[in-house]
Amino acid sequence: MGEIAGKLKTIKERLSSGISLIVVSKTRSVEEIMEVYNEGHRLFGENRVQELLTKRPCLPDDIHWHIIGHLQTNKVKYIVPFISMIESVDSLKLLETINREAEKAGRQIDVLIQAHIATEETKFGFDADEILAVNWKIISDQMPNIRICGVMGMASFTDDLSVVHAEFKRLHALFVRLRDEYFGNINYFSEVSMGMSGDWETAIEEGSTMIRVGTAIFGQRKYY
Ligand SMILES: *Cc1c(COP(=O)(O)O)cnc(C)c1O
Repeated sequence: MGEIAGKLKTIKERLSSGISLIVVSKTRSVEEIMEVYNEGHRLFGENRVQELLTKRPCLPDDIHWHIIGHLQTNKVKYIVPFISMIESVDSLKLLETINREAEKAGRQIDVLIQAHIATEETKFGFDADEILAVNWKIISDQMPNIRICGVMGMASFTDDLSVVHAEFKRLHALFVRLRDEYFGNINYFSEVSMGMSGDWETAIEEGSTMIRVGTAIFGQRKYY
């Protein structure tokens, strides 16, 4: 077994059945992605539309792609025909655009609300108070071509585990609050996407249902 396949297997063995693994393939070649695909894995995440559009035609059709990075509204139309989930919804304007393009494409698109939980300035996402100021029941009713399936967030890059625990705990609490207020009887509002190569075990302890892992499977990225 190759190195990539071995690392994938080690992580998968440690995931309980309710937790999905998004293999983050940004910057990785078609050959590297195929090593994971050939192990039977079908869930992949990319954070740039152009890169995804370039690689996708060279890869099998049955891959489920998630967009996990900041998405510009003018790029939505290019991914709507095939994307499985948009995890990085960070504005209502983006959500409206996804709904409109999905309607044109005759699709209903699964999305996650990205919450800004880290103390670092540079990360995209709604602030918690912005999220709580929105009536998500009304939004869902107004936008029949999207399905809001949960929340996504990134913790601070820090060795201080207590900070990471606290940030993931906040994201999970936000998920519970939204579920209780707006999505109580909607079974697909079920995802808390949190945890990356350095912190996925911590994220699972705090209730993650979806981890997004790149480096721990493919090795260090050479760029971004
Ligand atoms: C790059 C990226 C990941 C994966 O990061 P690794 O540290 O390589 O596991 C996860 N989530 C998002 C949003 C990313 O941009």
